[in-house]
Amino acid sequence: MSADGSLDRPAGRAGTPDDPVATAGLDLDGARSLDAADPLAGFRDRFNVPRHTDGSEQVYLVGNSLGLAPKATRTWVDRELDRWATLGVAGHFTGDLAWAPYHEQATQPMADLVGGRPDEVVVMNSLTVNLHLLMISFYRPTPERHKVIIEAGAFPSDHFAVESQIRQRGYDPTTSLITVAPRPGEELLDDDDLLAAIADAGDALALVLLPGVQYYTGQVLPMAAITAAGHAVGAVVGFDLAHAAGNVPLALHEWDVDFAAWCTYKYLNAGPGGIAGAFVHRRHVADPDLPKFAGWWGTAKDTRFEMATTFDPIPTVESWQLSNPPILMLAALLASLEVFTEAGGMAPLRAKTERQVRYLDRLLADRVGDRIEQVNASELHRRGCQFALRLRDGDRTADGKAVHAALEAAGVACDWRYPDVIRVAPVPLYTTFEDLHRFVEILEDVL
Ligand SMILES: *Cc1c(COP(=O)(O)O)cnc(C)c1O
Repeated sequence: MSADGSLDRPAGRAGTPDDPVATAGLDLDGARSLDAADPLAGFRDRFNVPRHTDGSEQVYLVGNSLGLAPKATRTWVDRELDRWATLGVAGHFTGDLAWAPYHEQATQPMADLVGGRPDEVVVMNSLTVNLHLLMISFYRPTPERHKVIIEAGAFPSDHFAVESQIRQRGYDPTTSLITVAPRPGEELLDDDDLLAAIADAGDALALVLLPGVQYYTGQVLPMAAITAAGHAVGAVVGFDLAHAAGNVPLALHEWDVDFAAWCTYKYLNAGPGGIAGAFVHRRHVADPDLPKFAGWWGTAKDTRFEMATTFDPIPTVESWQLSNPPILMLAALLASLEVFTEAGGMAPLRAKTERQVRYLDRLLADRVGDRIEQVNASELHRRGCQFALRLRDGDRTADGKAVHAALEAAGVACDWRYPDVIRVAPVPLYTTFEDLHRFVEILEDVL
């Protein structure tokens, strides 16, 4: 990862004669040789892979929507069910797994994944709830400075959250909301356009809220440059990392990001509706002037149970917590974070993503190059693991929905997104090169 927040260009071997991805045969043996050389190959066995109707494992390419279930999740959740059954209320304060401080176990591994410090990262609530809680603190409009920049194609929940925050403060989205769109005829946001929009909004800009990775195209935005541009005009900068956390390396602290939120059921494999993450930069965590919606889980831990009614905020991002958290969902998250830690964190995962992206690029070009268009970026440093494919039928756009249905029927789990894109995401913890080979074979067949 480079200092400007974009991802590094592929290092070293890419494109050189000894680059195995560039030289691997495009047949099944080639895919298998890449799997045999993959240092992360053993991690697939840590997950339950859903089965196709014929009994074979699905080609699961939809971890961008719901990550696979780690096999260890059941053990972690069962352990808490057992502790509840045997300890009852005493489980809150008994043993190493006591529920009162239970969430603290997630702090360091989660901080490692997003490049935060332990006092900057907490798991709590769900993503949209966290966006709201953080905007209560970080969107503080005044008549002179009340504008918010988002992207025109923002995920609807983010759009709704921002619009409702603007209205809640007595402003009007028609005058306070600025949306940045790709240039006419283009699919991706232009990095320079984003930075220019921030500079243009200038003194009127209160908040920038952008994704780290765009959910539709998979485009990685230059988070450090956006943060610097926002700060240069006196605005606060936050990121929605739903598609970034567990997908691309992040350095939130170093990039000086003000706040961020993300869900854990996509690349972080914490299960449907999993508990979400939040980041607040160290320089803000103990700021007594920040407005905050408060609850008892945000007040000092040592006096919390004295039930005093003076809010004494924990001097970390934990002061944004409202409620005692859902332990069963936290247990599921811990099961998954353990796998990430064992895998060595984001660096090896990113390295495999780059191999898989370049391999799938080659395969797609070779087998179905004239039938698909990649809506995602082509440069590796602007991509995570997700592809966004538009299918062509001669010079027309093909019926992607029908192709998607046929893929599903053939055992490929992927998703179709209105109006015409199929998203596929090789996830480095569990997608094999053979999966990618099978996917392209099936896609060619279907087309
Ligand atoms: C997945 C996703 C969401 C979902 O929000 P929840 O609060 O978890 O339901 C929101 N925003 C983005 C950008 C997403 O990708």
